[in-house]
Amino acid sequence: MDYKEEYERKLRDYRWRAVSYSIKNRDGFICNICTNVGGVLNTHHKVYTTKDPWDEDWSNLITLCEDCHVWTHSYQNETGLNFYYDEWVDKST
Ligand SMILES: [Zn+2]
Ligand SMILES: [Zn+2]
Repeated sequence: MDYKEEYERKLRDYRWRAVSYSIKNRDGFICNICTNVGGVLNTHHKVYTTKDPWDEDWSNLITLCEDCHVWTHSYQNETGLNFYYDEWVDKST
């Protein structure tokens, strides 16, 4: 099993599902970039770590809609930089 498969398996784990739901609930089920409410929401890691996803610090997790999530990953792939959301979060509050 390669790393990606292993990680995808972890994302189906009930412990991650519980944490993921808690993050969306914390964020009010609102995308932190475009502030869309509802629809398909993903829980994104601001910075990837070697921790199991359910052991992740909640400050490293953020709710994004599918479109913004895809955009964020392509931004990270292109630039090799992690994208920080604090400025966006400030705008939406
Ligand atoms: Zn969005
Ligand atoms: Zn992500």
